[in-house]
Amino acid sequence: MLRCFQADLHIHTCLSPCGDLLMSPKRVVEEAARKKLDIIAISDHNSAENVAAAVRVGQDNDVTVIPAMEVTTVEEAHFIAFFDRPDPVLDLQNLIYENLPGKNDPTVFGEQIVVNELDEVEGYNDRLLIGACGLSINKLIEEIHKRGGLIVAAHVDRQAFSIISQLGFIPPDIELDGLEISARIPPGKAVELFPEFKKYPLITSSDAHYLQDIGKVRTSFMLQEPTFGELRQAFANTNSRRLFVEEV
Ligand SMILES: [Zn+2]
Ligand SMILES: [Zn+2]
Repeated sequence: MLRCFQADLHIHTCLSPCGDLLMSPKRVVEEAARKKLDIIAISDHNSAENVAAAVRVGQDNDVTVIPAMEVTTVEEAHFIAFFDRPDPVLDLQNLIYENLPGKNDPTVFGEQIVVNELDEVEGYNDRLLIGACGLSINKLIEEIHKRGGLIVAAHVDRQAFSIISQLGFIPPDIELDGLEISARIPPGKAVELFPEFKKYPLITSSDAHYLQDIGKVRTSFMLQEPTFGELRQAFANTNSRRLFVEEV
């Protein structure tokens, strides 16, 4: 039997330079559980080093944590990659790191902290995670699909770091699995402004950098169980699985 699951598929941790220092994997998952979210995705900038810890905390809190990453392409557009387990996102991370120039300056961009499931600091990432990697949009799509993942263009309505802000349109020949509307605009309004969005499955996510923002907007999924395999079917709109956002 299908039932409705609440998801927020774009959440940062303290590994992102712009993420609040309180955003440890444990606290993020516990906050999601408190807010009755069934599924969340941990999507740090160009890195997934806090994903496995969050997945483990999720197992103890009845929250499905989807391993993810928010990648900045060479065009300076943001995309979220989703996977069924940590291994493929860590494999993608290796490729991103090979193509990510520069070192982080914590005094300018913020600390990038790797934290385990017990809330212990394991280390500091010194790569320029806030920067753009050398992969093009087309190459990134190919690399994510090759690893069995899904790719969603992030905050497409935004005037910065979105496929629309960088290209002006969505190339019709690219194989995106969905689009994400930011929390700044009701999804219905976004579609009114950009009718081309209608051709894609639309999600809306908090893009939370602070605990209080987790779950402030959500996407609903009709699934049998809260798993990546079921999410994939909802994005493809098959087997009666589907996704929808509340219209305001
Ligand atoms: Zn972004
Ligand atoms: Zn983000």
